[in-house]
Amino acid sequence: MLSPLKPVLGKAAELLAKQLEIHTVGDLVRHYPRRYVDRGKLTDIAGLELGEHATIIALVEKTTMRDMRNRRGTMLQVVLRDEKGATLDATFFNGHKVKHFIHPGVRAVFSGKVGVFNKKLQLTHPQFDPLDEADEIRPFISVYPATGKITSQEIARCVRQVLDVLDGGGRVEVTDPLPGSLRQREGLAELGRALRRIHVPESEADYHAARNRLVWDEALGVQLALALRRQAAVSKPAAACPPRRGALLDAFDARLPFALTPGQQEVGAEIAADLALRHPMNRLVQGDVGAGKTVIALRAMLQAVDAGRQAAMLAPTETLAAQHARSLRTMLGPLAQAGELGAAEHATSITLLTGSLGAKAKRKALLDAQSGEAGIVVGTHALIQDRVGFAELGLVVVDEQHRFGVEQRDALRGRGGDLAPHMLVMTATPIPRTVAMTVYGDLQISSLRELPEGRSPISTTVVPLAEKPSWFASIWRRVREEVAAGHQAYVVCPRVGDVDPQDLIDTEDPDIGADSDDGGARRPPMAVLEVAPKLVEGPLEGLRIAILHGKMPPDEKDAVMRAFERHELDVLVATTVIEVGVDVPNATAMVILDADRFGLSQLHQLRGRVGRGSAPGVCLLVTDMPAATAARERLDAVAGTTDGFVLAQLDLELRREGDVLGSMQSGRRSGLRLLSLLKHAEIIAKAQVYAGDIVEQDPGLVRHPGLFALVGETVGDEERAAYLDKV
Ligand code: ADP
Ligand code: MG
Repeated sequence: MLSPLKPVLGKAAELLAKQLEIHTVGDLVRHYPRRYVDRGKLTDIAGLELGEHATIIALVEKTTMRDMRNRRGTMLQVVLRDEKGATLDATFFNGHKVKHFIHPGVRAVFSGKVGVFNKKLQLTHPQFDPLDEADEIRPFISVYPATGKITSQEIARCVRQVLDVLDGGGRVEVTDPLPGSLRQREGLAELGRALRRIHVPESEADYHAARNRLVWDEALGVQLALALRRQAAVSKPAAACPPRRGALLDAFDARLPFALTPGQQEVGAEIAADLALRHPMNRLVQGDVGAGKTVIALRAMLQAVDAGRQAAMLAPTETLAAQHARSLRTMLGPLAQAGELGAAEHATSITLLTGSLGAKAKRKALLDAQSGEAGIVVGTHALIQDRVGFAELGLVVVDEQHRFGVEQRDALRGRGGDLAPHMLVMTATPIPRTVAMTVYGDLQISSLRELPEGRSPISTTVVPLAEKPSWFASIWRRVREEVAAGHQAYVVCPRVGDVDPQDLIDTEDPDIGADSDDGGARRPPMAVLEVAPKLVEGPLEGLRIAILHGKMPPDEKDAVMRAFERHELDVLVATTVIEVGVDVPNATAMVILDADRFGLSQLHQLRGRVGRGSAPGVCLLVTDMPAATAARERLDAVAGTTDGFVLAQLDLELRREGDVLGSMQSGRRSGLRLLSLLKHAEIIAKAQVYAGDIVEQDPGLVRHPGLFALVGETVGDEERAAYLDKV
């Protein structure tokens, strides 16, 4: 499959390489058709109806080049004739580009929307794929991803030529990488046959069988890569941190003001067992907002400290890191005051280390980490970037994983010197099953399904300003009511505001607007710096209001957050800096302005900032998008459920899932073409089991050269080498 194309295809090979980066036989036969034209479903020109999307086969009878009337460029006007003799006009805008392909005598498949011009039906700039003789006799015409320089049918011809050589058993052979036993049990077609059938199907069943088989290749490739990755991870030695009775963790448990939920106990036990092992834990804890993950992380860190190691906790923003440091200190009380007067027996100390510390404070923090003085170091990415030295790093906790990429996870793993640190990743974004099995497939997963008791419900309402502009005033009346009842409120805007157009996006929030469907013509999103003064002078006059966003100096941010925690403020007007982890139980109202600009999971996260105490929370999703738009449907979905798992699945369906799988691969051409996290859950699950068995029996894949190659095709040779080096 790695043979070059040149000997088979000659000059066409150069075009494929240049235009589509198709270099080898394998590249070409894995360049699958984008769609098929079913000859049985073609329309006659005589039967076309205005407004329908039609696919026809026709002969180009006449072409005329015209200058465009209102802009530069040329237009190609074409008369098409079908087999029954009926004619139809078609127009192509970039005349000079298409005339190379479209000239009298060319037969092609044309598809597009049927419009009307000069009282006659016409196709305006339809897609077209010229046909050759061989196409005429087949039931399906394969349409390939093509470029302006090479058409779909030219690609089809090349593919057929290569397939013929493969079938003839010529210079190149297809060896099926899948073990025969697997193929038999799962009823999968043999690779050579599947490849021919996906390119040249004879029937729909043919095509489905071929596709199913090829999906298996991808699923198994991914799962083998992950199995190898897990194997490489656990083959590193780690410091065992077995629980120590009567020490810090026990002292902490004794002063916990609440009982752990059954879920917290169960997950805690899983972690405790992992930490005691001599190879690194790689565990992900998923639990909805407010499920109580922090206490789980803290208990794990205390177990590491009890074993004479240090723990590091990483947060996505400085605000959150500072808050974590504060709340860990509060929870630990005298147990975190090592070296201070009144410290408890076994006490440790917590050091905050962020990028924005002053030089002196930073030096001290680094020293504390290096000397082992700090049992627990809390920080941001700076922890990775500044090459912090730890005396004996035993455990790394990564909070709110959705902000961290795979590479950052790996960077941290390399931190422990000879011994790899244990790794605990926490996310409040529930992970759909198939994503867990792929993107997070190198991690063990624990789930917290229930929230601690006594939580009050959050009611979510969409405020549709397009239809009910008067509701805008009632938003602020509602906020005043909450404040009058002794509670606090957040008002979230998508934007910081005009400092400088470059600064429109809050740098602490890389995701902002990522999945908003901004047509470009809309007004700019609401901004903290514009909204806050209007509220102060208008509907929220007299309340104690402050702003919070990522552009503020860190100590200022910190001061504001602390004032809000101490209830010295009533309303916080903020960007999504507060999205993750911020925990102020007295806050009961969350107003999200231009809510349609945020993603589903983001909205769910934001909503999770309220309803954390005993009083019920209210979340208002304010939008001026009209009813029955996709944006409004997303908001209705958020209002309709507080189940993060449901929203996560929906988020997956709405996102281009390529983005999700793409994150597994670092910037290379993807080996994944057919695999879908939505459609192939069952195959992915089965492939995971097969892959585990195969890697267990053949850790270096030496007895499975075909599978070894498959892993390379899926994740790239470099990554494959990285896993296998460690065996
Ligand atoms: P998250 O999972 O979103 O990080 P936190 O760890 O911030 O949630 O916990 C949310 C709140 O619930 C905190 O105030 C925490 O002290 C409290 N909490 C955690 N576990 C329990 C429990 N078992 N019972 C009661 N309250 C709890
Ligand atoms: Mg948290």
